[in-house]
Amino acid sequence: MTTENRKKKKKKKLRLKQPWKKLFAKLSSSAGGSRSGTRRRKKKKFKLSKIRKEVWFALAGIVALILLFTIPRMIETNKLKKLGYDKEAIAAIRELKLQKKLLDNQWYSDYLASCIKSKTVNPDYLDLYTVISGDKYLDDTDFLMVGRLRDKGYEEDQILNLYKNLRFVELTPLLVYDYQLIEDTYIEDCKEHPENNRSAFTLGRSYFTPYKNTAPADPSTVEMLVNKTYYLDKSYVPPELTDLSNKAGAPGTQLSKEAADAMEAWAVGGMEKGVAFYTTSSYRSYEGQETLYDNYLLNHGQEQADRESARPGHSEHQTGLTVDVCATGDESSEFGDTTAFLWASTNCMDYGWILRYPKNKEAITGYEYESWHFRYVGKDLAKAVYASGMTFDEFWCLYIKPWSNEANKPSEAILASTDWHKIGKEAEEAPAEEAAASPSPAAQ
Ligand SMILES: [Zn+2]
Repeated sequence: MTTENRKKKKKKKLRLKQPWKKLFAKLSSSAGGSRSGTRRRKKKKFKLSKIRKEVWFALAGIVALILLFTIPRMIETNKLKKLGYDKEAIAAIRELKLQKKLLDNQWYSDYLASCIKSKTVNPDYLDLYTVISGDKYLDDTDFLMVGRLRDKGYEEDQILNLYKNLRFVELTPLLVYDYQLIEDTYIEDCKEHPENNRSAFTLGRSYFTPYKNTAPADPSTVEMLVNKTYYLDKSYVPPELTDLSNKAGAPGTQLSKEAADAMEAWAVGGMEKGVAFYTTSSYRSYEGQETLYDNYLLNHGQEQADRESARPGHSEHQTGLTVDVCATGDESSEFGDTTAFLWASTNCMDYGWILRYPKNKEAITGYEYESWHFRYVGKDLAKAVYASGMTFDEFWCLYIKPWSNEANKPSEAILASTDWHKIGKEAEEAPAEEAAASPSPAAQ
């Protein structure tokens, strides 16, 4: 056999071998593998359909959850938008969790929105923010005032009405006045006197019935208020009555030790500045006041007597903390017309004294202007009262008065931030003229 023939034979052999191989391979794969392949496919199909269902359910659940969460949120956003809140305010509302309160009550004002945005809003007084507009603003002193008005008997809607229409300077006298069942009359009167401010306050009508709702004063502290409401007992005599020296008082004038020392210091302080004044009248007993008042009554009649003199028990002179002064060598002039008055009235607070019945405040104090009548209250309180621009009656009712109902008290935080000792200290840090010129800490 030639080499060529051998090659051909080999090729033929190969050709003959290959179909078998292929067939075998096909058979073996179809015979053994076909059954398990179908199972796998079935298994695969089954698994896939199961997964698809689970995924479908999960996705549906997620979508439902998203809808459950977003739909009410979208509705809420829309409602807040309709009320007037913008995107930034709505974000802050959610952060402060105020949405329910605001929506339930339909509360909105530009001022409320701006306080929410700056997160300075006090959530306990949201309704109060809705009635504030223009150049007014709210702070802790206003929240203290709300508590005081509640304590006085005012209902929430009356307080909102008062805040909507009045300035703070018009609110403080209400604490001294009788409770006004129809507050609109008072509001109208205030609107007819827009010129009223901290230096002058007059109204067309009277809102106070002197000696009507009287209550005992608390003589245990120098901060006591004695006026046409608060009285001292007939038997009350101040502790440690002390004679004033001839520098500070006329012979026989007496004050409580603390006030006597303060009077001496004030008189000496004046002398160092070249002005001289002294006490002409100081402590007066209940009986002494009774005689004095009866004389007024006899000579001037009830109305005038009550404008100029206190009924017994209601006189500040019984406290042992009060003086009537006059300028040395100028006894015939009213003290207010003397140069001594200029120094004494602008420096009295540094010695613990306040001018008790200021000019143009008769509508609040119930007394005509008395340039000569000063009351000792201690340095801190004197400075605080002076800085506030209020009469002592208003100041006491706002900052010092014991609460009739503890439930009307504002939070401890508000009480702490409006503590009058703080006001006194702040006034001490600021020069006197600056303190008097600056507005009251609350809404004006
Ligand atoms: Zn007096």
